[in-house]
Amino acid sequence: MASERDRRDPVLNQDPPGSRGVTSTVAATAAPPGPPAVGSPSPAGPAPGVPRPHGSAPRARGLILTGARVVLPSGTVDGGRVVVEGTRIAEAAHEDAEVLDLTGHWVVPGFVDLHNHGGGGASFTSGTVDDVLKGVHTHRLHGTTTVVASTVTGDMDFLAQRAGLLSELAEQGDIAGVHFEGPFISPCRKGAHSEELLRDPDPAEVRKLVDAARGRAVMVTLATELPGGIDSVRLLAEHGVIAAIGHTDATYEQTVEAIDAGATVATHLFNAMPGLGHRVPGPIAALLEDDRVTVELINDGTHLHPASLELAFHHAGAARVAFITDAMDAAGFGDGRYLLGPLEVEVSGGVARLVEGGSIAGSTLTLDRAFQRAVTVDRLPVGDVVAAVSANPAKLLGRYDRIGSLEPGKDADLVVLDADFSLKGVMRRGRWVVDPANG
Ligand SMILES: [Zn+2]
Repeated sequence: MASERDRRDPVLNQDPPGSRGVTSTVAATAAPPGPPAVGSPSPAGPAPGVPRPHGSAPRARGLILTGARVVLPSGTVDGGRVVVEGTRIAEAAHEDAEVLDLTGHWVVPGFVDLHNHGGGGASFTSGTVDDVLKGVHTHRLHGTTTVVASTVTGDMDFLAQRAGLLSELAEQGDIAGVHFEGPFISPCRKGAHSEELLRDPDPAEVRKLVDAARGRAVMVTLATELPGGIDSVRLLAEHGVIAAIGHTDATYEQTVEAIDAGATVATHLFNAMPGLGHRVPGPIAALLEDDRVTVELINDGTHLHPASLELAFHHAGAARVAFITDAMDAAGFGDGRYLLGPLEVEVSGGVARLVEGGSIAGSTLTLDRAFQRAVTVDRLPVGDVVAAVSANPAKLLGRYDRIGSLEPGKDADLVVLDADFSLKGVMRRGRWVVDPANG
């Protein structure tokens, strides 16, 4: 199995340049071993310098990140420590652990993207296995340590085949699962989806796609007002798959019915759905007011006006917002012509639009930019932003026991940001994807 994987995965099985967290040489001093636990303040002042014997550096038994502002579920700790042992965050450090001084930086949990169609020039809907891995790696370089691969509308047999390929990558831990966006969406709100391939959410057809993903389907976006929509929501809920309301023309009342049937996510709230009207509140009001719903937001400065973002945060509260990228191939790659499913897309100035009709066609966003924008432009509290990019999506995926916060026992997935919230380091499962020593 491993050799099969080595052959097929030229990107992820190699250490990216400058990776390998446990051998970082940034630290000039060694911290005292043992407790305190994750996030607890560092001892006041630097510990006495302990120079390494020249030419015989001891093999480190873990890594202590020290001096940074560490964002924990309970709040931010100034001068906190995070101890990494192997692939996990640990309670206490070994005596000979490496120390990396991150004074002046933030350490936050790795980002979790629930809705992402690709990046680095590669598409999750149409690329080869290597393409998909390239897209995954591109987003890892931007802090996304867990990504759900989203497909766009396609022929049912084609989507079932994609589900098979993506489910293998999910089994190997490269992606967190599959999100089907379409074909069960409204022609009135199709966005960048092929109209001729759209269909009503017949539960049998929905079931076919979920089955094709062999237990790795995590979310299906539906226009729940279409025939079969409510039954499909029930079916998904019964199978532990998130039913997401999106690309919808539903009324307020129809949306309430879908939430009552088990829908728990709003696919990119505001985008591809009717607006908020004073006599016709539509889906937005229903999705914002209900505590059972998490709302996805694309915080790229193009998809949403800052006031709309603020309105969503205010009404839903920080515990019910998930920042997503909805990224397409051009994310982390550049302007030019691309395909989104079968449709041609022109990316100019980082904004992706359909060549025909000019609809916005996904984004070129990465979650580090969404994070930075949320803090520096939207002026949201850092803890709320961490919830939106890490904890909330991790909880939705049912994986908060492993990811989504910096707590002992969880995967050592973390992001290092400088004082301006620019990305300086990314660690995934204990290894640097982006080494802050090189940042
Ligand atoms: Zn999408």
